[in-house]
Amino acid sequence: MYKIMTPGPTQVPETVRRARSFACTNPDLDEEFYDFYKETCELISSLLGTKNETLILDGEGILGLEAACASLTEPGDKVLVIDNGIYGKEFADFASMYGGIPELYHADYENTLDVDALAEYLKDHHDYAYATVVHCDTPSGMLNDISRICPLLKQYGILTIVDSVSGMFGERVCVDDFQIDLLCGGSQKAVSAPPGLTFVVVSDDAKEKMKNRKTPIASFYANLMAFDGYYEKKWFPYTMPISDIYGLRAAFNLIAGDKTLYERHARIGSATRAAVKEAGLKLHLQSGYSNTVTVFDIPECTDAKSILDEMRTKYNIMLAGSFDELSGKVIRIGHMGENARLEHMVPALEALSATLTDLGVTLQGNLADLFLKHYREFQD
Ligand SMILES: *Cc1c(COP(=O)(O)O)cnc(C)c1O
Repeated sequence: MYKIMTPGPTQVPETVRRARSFACTNPDLDEEFYDFYKETCELISSLLGTKNETLILDGEGILGLEAACASLTEPGDKVLVIDNGIYGKEFADFASMYGGIPELYHADYENTLDVDALAEYLKDHHDYAYATVVHCDTPSGMLNDISRICPLLKQYGILTIVDSVSGMFGERVCVDDFQIDLLCGGSQKAVSAPPGLTFVVVSDDAKEKMKNRKTPIASFYANLMAFDGYYEKKWFPYTMPISDIYGLRAAFNLIAGDKTLYERHARIGSATRAAVKEAGLKLHLQSGYSNTVTVFDIPECTDAKSILDEMRTKYNIMLAGSFDELSGKVIRIGHMGENARLEHMVPALEALSATLTDLGVTLQGNLADLFLKHYREFQD
C-alpha cells in the first residue's frame, strides 16, 4: 500500500473505513435511513455556513458538476464559464451538452482571478443565466476568491455553480456569505472519505429556476429535482449507497469535531510553499495558492515520471503529476484533509528531497527541515 499524498483521493481515517462496514438496512424502505440521510445533509450544510438544502448523490465529484449544469441549463441559456484553469474551462462542455451557450471568460492560468477585471467585464456583459467558477482548480492548484466572485455575479442576477471539490474543508467556504447557488463537493478530497460520492448545496434561487423551467431536465441521474420532496414522500430516485453514506457521515463527524481544521491547512500549506521556494524549486503559480495542494515546476535536469516512479518504488509514497497542458510539467503534493498532518508531510518531503537530489537536482537545503522550520514560525 502506498501512502497517498495526492490531491485526491486522500488518505481515509480508520473511523471512516469502519463506518463503511456497519450492518446495512434497506435504504429505500427503512424510514430511519431517510432521517440519517437528511441529518447528514443538514450537517454538511451547517459546516458550509448555510441552511440551504444539501443533496448527496451516488457518484464521484464529476456527477455533482454535471448534475448542477444539467439541472440549471435550459436550451439557449447563456452561460459564463470562468476559465483560469483546466476544470474551469471544462464546465463549458457540461453547459453545452445540456443545450446552454457557454461563453468563456479567459483569464491568466498562473494568477488568481482578477475580480476587478471581471467586474469591469460584467458592466457590459451580464446577460447570463448562470456562471461557473472553480474554487480550487486542482491541476494547477489555483485558488479563486469565490467570496468576492459570487456576490459580484449575483448583483446582476447571475446564478453561480461553484466547484469546490478540492477546496472545501481545506479552504473556508460559507455558502450564505458568498451567495453561492449550487456548490459542488466530493467525498475523496479534503473530506477524506473514499471516492464515490458527491454532494450539491442548492440555494432557493437555484431551486426556483429549476422549478420554473420551460423544458424538462434532460437527465435522470443528473437531475437534482428528482430529489424534490424525497423526505416527505420517503422516496429516493434510486437506491442510496448506504455504506458510502455511513462512511461520509463519519468523515463529517470528524470534520465537525476538528477545531483546528482550517488553521492546520493554512499552516501546512504555507510551510510547504515556503520550503519549496527556499529549496530553490519554482512554485507553478504566481498567486492564488490553495492550502490544499502545492504545485511546483519540474526542474530541467529531470522529468515527472522519474520523480513519481522513484517516490513510489523507493519510498512507497505517491505524489501526482498533472494533466492536459500541465502534463509532464509539474508535480503536485496533496495536503488536504487527512494528508494535512505533520506525520504525513514530513516523511513525504524527506523522500521528495532525497529523490530530487538523487535525480541530480541541487536543493538549497532539505525540504522536510525547511518545512518544519516554516511550520514552527507560522503565524496566521
Ligand atoms: C477531484 C476534482 C473533481 C472530481 O473529479 P475527478 O474525477 O476526481 O477528477 C472535480 N473538480 C475538481 C476541481 C477536482 O479537484
